[in-house]
Formats: sequence, structure tokens, C-alpha cells
Amino acid sequence: MGAGGHYKPHGFGCENLVGEHAPAPKGGSMSRIVYVNGKYVPEEQGSVSIFDRGFLFADGVYEVTAIVHGRLIDYDPHMERLARSLAEISMAWPCSKAELRRMHEELISRNRLDQGWVYMQVTRGAADRDFKFPKNNGSTLIAFTQVKNLLDNPDAITGVKVVTVPDLRWKRRDIKSVMLLAPVLGKQQAYEKGGFEGWMVEDGKVTEGTSSNAYIVKNNTVVTRPLSTSILAGVTRRSLFRLAQEHGIAIEERPFTPEEAYEADEAFLTSATNFVLPIVDIDGRRIGGGQPGPVTRKLRSIYLEEALA
Ligand code: PLP
Repeated sequence: MGAGGHYKPHGFGCENLVGEHAPAPKGGSMSRIVYVNGKYVPEEQGSVSIFDRGFLFADGVYEVTAIVHGRLIDYDPHMERLARSLAEISMAWPCSKAELRRMHEELISRNRLDQGWVYMQVTRGAADRDFKFPKNNGSTLIAFTQVKNLLDNPDAITGVKVVTVPDLRWKRRDIKSVMLLAPVLGKQQAYEKGGFEGWMVEDGKVTEGTSSNAYIVKNNTVVTRPLSTSILAGVTRRSLFRLAQEHGIAIEERPFTPEEAYEADEAFLTSATNFVLPIVDIDGRRIGGGQPGPVTRKLRSIYLEEALA
């Protein structure tokens, strides 16, 4: 804090983005390297201000991009969606698109990441607490990697359970906002009932999963809700639509009820880190005899084929 009691912006600018690197930790186990406002630092040293508007107001947006064999999957559509999220909340890009891509690649390389994801978040920066946008304030940009074996996921073989929960979110779910309390509560409620995912329900219809898009299959046709402000336009959903069309798999875009889902031949979810994941149980009702169905398995395999190509 300055003498006047006002928070001073940190002065991070795009030009610093790839310039400053912390030395790689010596010996022993490697500490994860994270990115904070233009610097690469060991995770223990990665911190942001308590005045950050992401922390105080959830005034920020994010993206999660899967990594397979060290390569970014569907990176361009993730950045297109980031551009849209930023524009919808009148937030500037934190740096150039080229710098953002280099930052993703640098994190993968410095952490020797083979499989997992890169999480990145932009907020409207740190400033004295005031609901109105701060003037001439830099953004906060942070990113980190998480390791996960995405290819050999046992859930993809057995299928997972989902539990329906109320959709308590705001009305602009098309924006990938860091304001995730409703999905946190929904996922926890589902988890406590033995579910891997919660399917959120509004006005009697499934909107989407707490962190995934939702689908059922009936008579070989995939049914999923159309895009609107009620759901997030999943990047995996977009790829799935393209692949389904290429392989002659029909998709019908319309909302469906939990009751219709209980009677479905198959069900599945999509997200960047789960790809296409079969669902074999919804609210304790077995779907497709409790086994991942053929349409779901085919969609997962063609999605992975492209990701690995
Ligand atoms: N819907 C919601 C609410 C999500 O949070 C997510 C991913 O986090 C998705 C859908 C799936 O989007 P994507 O395929 O881009 O990961």
C-alpha cells in the first residue's frame, strides 16, 4: 500500500511476459513452475495480491487446455472462447495472443508435462475494493500445469455415475467466469451421493454438468442442449459436433429432462480434460445396462484419434 492508503498496481505489462524466468530448482524433486504476471517461479513463490479482483469479486475468466504427449489440444478454440469471455465482460487481453501461446508452451516445457492440462486465469487486476472497474489498472494473469493421465482413464472403461442437482448459477453461463461457487456446491452434492459429476437441472431440464456438457443417446441419435446463455459452449462439444458429422452420427440439439435421460440408451459428458466420458448411472438408474454404449465409445475413440494424430 502507498502512503495514501491506495493500492498501487504492479505495473505488469505484456512486454514482461516471456522475459523473466526463475532459475530451474536444483536437485531433488522438481518443484512445479507456475506463471504469475510475467514471471515463471516455483509454485511456493507464486502469489497474487489480496486486493486482486478475482479474489474479491470473482472478476475474471479462465481457460483449461488439455495436454497430450506435451501438445496442446484444441488450443485455438480455447483462445477464441477466451476472447469472447473477455469481450463480454469488457476486459482487455492481458498480452498478445502470441505471448499467451508461448506462455502455455513454456509451462509445458519447464514442467516437462506429458499429460494433464494448463489452467490460465485473467482478472481485472488488484485495486482498492470498489465494484466499479478500476481505471488504468493492469490485469492479473496466472497459469499453472496439472499432471493427469488423460489417455488411460479407468473411468472411460467403467463409465461414471452422475447425480442431478439444482442449477443455482447466474444467467450468463456462456462466459467462462471464475465465479464457480454454484458448480462447486453442485459437484460436492453429487460427490456426496456417489456421483462423479452433477447434472444441473433448471425448469425441469438438464442444462449441463458442473464442469462438462451433457448428452444422452436414443436410437443412435445424440441429444444435447443447444448453445445459449444457459450453458458454456464447450470446446470439446464443438470438436465432437464436427467429428460426429464427419462420421455420420446424428446430433439433435434440444433440452432433455432427467426422466428422458433415465430411459436413454446411453449417456456421456464432454470436457477438455475428460474428452468423451461414458455415463452408466443417473440418479441411481442404470443406463444402457450399466455399460458404456457403442455410440459413446465410438465418439471417444474418434476424438482421441484426432488428438493423437
Ligand atoms: N460446461 C461447463 C459449465 C464447464 O465448466 C466446462 C468445462 O470446464 C464445460 C462445459 C466443458 O467445456 P470444455 O469442453 O471447453 O472443457
